[in-house]
Amino acid sequence: MRIGIVGAGMAGLACAEALSRRNYAVQLFDKGRGPGGRMSTRRVSTALGEASFDHGAPAFTARDPAFRQRLDAWIASGMAAAWPAAGPTAYVGVPSMGTPIRHMAAGQAVRFATRVLQIEAANPGWRFVLEQGDAVEVDFAVVATPAEQASALLDPIAPAFAAQAAAARSVPCWTVMLAFAEKLSASADWLQGNESDTVGLAARNSAKPGRTGPEAWVLQATASWSSAHLEADQDWVANELTAAFADRIGAALPTPVARAAHRWRYANPVAVGPGIIYDAHRQLGICGDWLLGPGVEAAWMSGTSLAARIAG
Ligand SMILES: Cc1cc2nc3c(=O)[nH]c(=O)nc-3n(C[C@H](O)[C@H](O)[C@H](O)COP(=O)(O)OP(=O)(O)OC[C@H]3O[C@@H](n4cnc5c(N)ncnc54)[C@H](O)[C@@H]3O)c2cc1C
Repeated sequence: MRIGIVGAGMAGLACAEALSRRNYAVQLFDKGRGPGGRMSTRRVSTALGEASFDHGAPAFTARDPAFRQRLDAWIASGMAAAWPAAGPTAYVGVPSMGTPIRHMAAGQAVRFATRVLQIEAANPGWRFVLEQGDAVEVDFAVVATPAEQASALLDPIAPAFAAQAAAARSVPCWTVMLAFAEKLSASADWLQGNESDTVGLAARNSAKPGRTGPEAWVLQATASWSSAHLEADQDWVANELTAAFADRIGAALPTPVARAAHRWRYANPVAVGPGIIYDAHRQLGICGDWLLGPGVEAAWMSGTSLAARIAG
């Protein structure tokens, strides 16, 4: 059976890994230029060397025993490590958040920079219409994207599933990346705010295990602030978050050697659902964090569960 997966984030790759182990022929498609999805790392050249910022998920947990086992393998091979600054059960990729994802993608057939424009019924199976103008036919289609993007792809072929995805709202997150020539005098490497604040989280990226380069911070605006300023100008957002961060640490900031802002329109899902959507008759499956709960671990569990259902 040929299985096509839209989305090579943690959910899509976990599904692909589990299916490949059972000898299915899997092909993934991702619109991003490289692996990562919402576990991406941004690199910026500075006069002091390359600054790196995990500008999506800053850390993740591992409570599920099966995910814990997968994580242990990454830890054993130096691709992940605990980061106690973020909490007693917090982990990060090493030397960047995307390392485990890159490793997973390397073992799979992934076409990056390839947006799936449409999924059509091919009788039998499905046809993925790609933005490059070509199309690929598969026997089983998996959609492993954020809910809003899944809804758009599913609407013409499975309106009930599309409606389920449309009902799962994601909250946005404005993220600002700052690098400095000197170490800031913040009281901790992980500073959490309240939902009424502008900055919901400030994380000293350069303090994570295995990082090199200058002092680097990632600021995440709260969901309510991000929603209220979703269409704001990037520079304005960078100024606002930088000022709020300075207030938070109670010190004037030196001029950054690098500064960038990124808007995640679909950062974290609010709704949780049944874990996966699986239609054996139509050979269609859906996975992603939005079906289980926000987070890397949920994305992995959803992808892995879907693979088990397909194989079962
Ligand atoms: C700012 C931020 C903070 C976060 N904080 C945490 C945290 O503290 N802890 C935690 O555990 N998690 C956190 N997360 C969430 C975590 O990153 C996600 O839960 C997880 O990475 C989701 O994986 P996924 O595979 O479901 O989705 P994604 O990583 O979004 O992967 C989906 C992929 O689908 C691709 N795609 C979409 N549409 C198409 C299309 N039409 N054609 C081709 N490709 C397509 C996208 O390019 C993407 O690569 C955070 C995320 C963000 C953005």
